[in-house]
Amino acid sequence: SRAASLLPQLLLRRRPASAGAFALLARPASSASGGLPPLTTEIHPGIKRGAFSQLTDADVSAFEAIVGGDHVIKDADEVLSYNIDWLRICRGQGQLVLRPKTTEEVSAIVRHCNKRRLAVVPQGGNTGLVGGSVPLFDEIVISTSRMNSLLSIDPVSGVLVAEAGCVLEQLDREAASQGLMMPLDLGAKGSCQIGGNLATNAGGLRLLRYGSLRGTTLGLEAVLPTGQVLDCLTTLRKDNTGYDIKQLLIGSEGTLGIITKAAILCPARPKSVQLAFLGLDSFQAVLDTYRLARRSLGEILSAFEFIDSESMRAVKQNLGLSCPLGEHSFYVLAETSGSNETHDREKLDGFIESVMSMDGCATDGTVAQDAGQFAHLWSLRERIVESLLVDGYEYKYDVSLPLADIYRLVEHMRTRLDGRVIRTAGYGHLGDGNLHLNFTTPKFDAKVLELIEPHVFDWVRDRRGSVSAEHGLGLKKSQYIRHSKADFAVRVMAEVKRLLDPNGIMNPYKVLPDE
Ligand code: FAD
Repeated sequence: SRAASLLPQLLLRRRPASAGAFALLARPASSASGGLPPLTTEIHPGIKRGAFSQLTDADVSAFEAIVGGDHVIKDADEVLSYNIDWLRICRGQGQLVLRPKTTEEVSAIVRHCNKRRLAVVPQGGNTGLVGGSVPLFDEIVISTSRMNSLLSIDPVSGVLVAEAGCVLEQLDREAASQGLMMPLDLGAKGSCQIGGNLATNAGGLRLLRYGSLRGTTLGLEAVLPTGQVLDCLTTLRKDNTGYDIKQLLIGSEGTLGIITKAAILCPARPKSVQLAFLGLDSFQAVLDTYRLARRSLGEILSAFEFIDSESMRAVKQNLGLSCPLGEHSFYVLAETSGSNETHDREKLDGFIESVMSMDGCATDGTVAQDAGQFAHLWSLRERIVESLLVDGYEYKYDVSLPLADIYRLVEHMRTRLDGRVIRTAGYGHLGDGNLHLNFTTPKFDAKVLELIEPHVFDWVRDRRGSVSAEHGLGLKKSQYIRHSKADFAVRVMAEVKRLLDPNGIMNPYKVLPDE
């Protein structure tokens, strides 16, 4: 039987502390990356510059006195990379980048900017996908890249305290040295920073198991838009003393302050991690397999990701990656993480046997045999974002929907855009009800965009989904916040913004809609 042919491969493999060398996340060459992306102000002519001051030589001198001349970037060529986002869908007109080293320096910079009414954009690894991390007009970029010290790790409590500019993958390596792991993992881990992760409340591949950063962040320190330092850097698991202000900063996408330090609760690093990769021929089979995985793998299930055939075609055609299975409509990665190899293996064997013997479920599958295969199978999922960019221009959506509706949206949009796009690809974190929906064209096409927006957001709203599951609103989705939040909730958010940022200098034009 199919199950029998698969089971001999079920040798338990330990996940290496880190798969692959630590490297900054490369962006692929694409036809669209040949030249500069259009200015964001050309794509969004309706957005007008706020009543902020213009930068003067005296301001630059003040910043040089705070961070030192070497950490004030004025050269236009150097500044350019801070003006363009990872997807190359936004290009701002910022003229200055500041690279502070300490919270005190961030505070002094922001205090000066607030007094002078100069707008700023906090920037971490610049891997955000909604245009939140780059200027629109001439906002000053405050980069956290030099704030990259690990402050402490307690192997007993599992609490790690780090500066905001630490790269996620680096932190995970440090955690591994103490038998711990970072509670989040995402394709951008080689470049994104923990401050950026918190600011976007990044979800990632294992939220299903370890929960969101809203739960695993115990404390944080931030510089508020007036320059005031907010010290909530507790490492306690329990602290019910008043409102939990740090939650306001988590997911605020740099609009309420600059996160400078964070205390994160890290789970124990699993001793055994296994990965099954399955081929399925209908979305119903994906759902049935997920149900079975929850039932038979229970507490050791750590990821359940799906990939549709168009996404798989993109990684194969555009990046030259090979898929060990034949052609299927869908693929699933089911990962387990546990502490007992024999127990975990028995469970995975049982799951695969059930999946393969259940009619209409998985028709093909394999299990990672070693670290190389483990990394390769994961790369088929993690590198989809990158592969789609090779087509040229990518229209990217990240929605939450009830599971029953999740793939209907892809099919609906595929029909709607038939003949107008290179591909309509759907993949995502099935266990979290999170779909990444993508369309590609050789270059930006306003007519295609008109067919997608606001239609896709209306479709999601009508099914009570969220227009942004994990990437945030940034610049790109801010006008659609009311599709997922009640009008009164948006008004409360605007009040909070006014309270903390009376001059509106902190990442303007992002998250909240124009009023
Ligand atoms: P940036 O891109 O620099 O900034 C993002 C936002 O946060 C901006 O609004 C910025 O102003 C703000 N910000 C940055 N640093 C700070 C700070 N210290 N204080 C206050 N505000 C700050 N996201 C997911 O949720 N799940 C995924 O699985 C996932 N996969 C990805 C895969 C790839 C290949 C890529 C390129 C991106 C992916 N993302 C994913 C997007 C995700 O939002 C970012 O990768 C990451 O969380 C952003 O971190 P960053 O340091 O790059 O932040």
